[in-house]
Amino acid sequence: MLNVKLPKYVDPRKLADREINITGVIAIVEMAELAPMLVNSDVEVFADLKFARDELRIRTISGSVKASVQVECQRCLEPVDVDLVANLNLAISYSEEKAQTLPKYYDPLIVEEDDLELLPLIEQELILSLPIVSYHANCSIQTSFGDGNPVTVSETEKPNPFSVLASLKGSTDKK
Ligand SMILES: [Zn+2]
Repeated sequence: MLNVKLPKYVDPRKLADREINITGVIAIVEMAELAPMLVNSDVEVFADLKFARDELRIRTISGSVKASVQVECQRCLEPVDVDLVANLNLAISYSEEKAQTLPKYYDPLIVEEDDLELLPLIEQELILSLPIVSYHANCSIQTSFGDGNPVTVSETEKPNPFSVLASLKGSTDKK
């Protein structure tokens, strides 16, 4: 499949009036806020944006943005694969004030000028879709954090961190 680059700017109202769909890719490396959160920023986002008018004549953007990224496992600090998917459900508004009148099932998107820059919009949607904690399903390091099953370890049973490291080393050497 040929991946076309997304335009940098669009006129979302014009596109909505014409019911235009735009698909294309955009590079995460250009996203100053999201890129540092990832292990691999050399990844493209695939965006499928549908501009339309709903039955109330409200201009909307639906569709999805997707990216396969890697973040740091919060247990072992090694990369873990995460598929980010954000489904858009936006209604375009000229101002915060006008956005108050939009139906609550939409996420308001304030576009004061004619043009909308797509990169910050897609970046924010992806940041919102990032999991709060990420770790390998079968991580080599098991902790009581984040898995919903906190293990209570009494003071005497608490393993010496150095012996844990030693046993980890031992298990990887045994091949
Ligand atoms: Zn891990």
